[in-house]
Amino acid sequence: MVEKIKTTKKEESKTSGNCADKFCPFHGREAVKLRGRTFEGEVINKLPGRVKIQFDRVSYISKYERFDRRRTKLHARLPDCLKEEVHVGDWIQISECRPLSKIIHFIVTKKIRGKTAPNGVSSAEQKEKTQ
Ligand SMILES: [Zn+2]
Repeated sequence: MVEKIKTTKKEESKTSGNCADKFCPFHGREAVKLRGRTFEGEVINKLPGRVKIQFDRVSYISKYERFDRRRTKLHARLPDCLKEEVHVGDWIQISECRPLSKIIHFIVTKKIRGKTAPNGVSSAEQKEKTQ
C-alpha cells in the first residue's frame, strides 16, 4: 500500500477501476492528503463508508504518580478498495487527514491482521505474528 502512494494519480485510476471513492487517498479524484498522526486499532463497528476503531493507551496522572489505562475510539473513512478486506475484529492502521465530516478525520490505510479466532489462529495470521 505504501508503494501505491508513490505512483501518480493517473496511473492508479487506470490500474484499479473498481475504486470509485473520491476520498480514497490512493485513487480518489479529490486526492485527500494524509498528514498528522497514525494510529492502530481494532475495528469495533463497520458502517457504509466508515469504520469505528478502538485502542488502549496509557496516560500518566501526575497527582497520583500512577498510570491509568484509557480507551480511545475513532471514526475513519473506509475507502471502497479496502471495503472487502476490513471486517469487525480486524487490527487496522489509520492515518490522519483533513476533516472529511464532523467526526471523520482519519482514513483507513491498511489492514495489519485479521480477527484472531478464540480457539486458534489461521496460518496466515501466524506468519504475520512471527515476523
Ligand atoms: Zn481506492
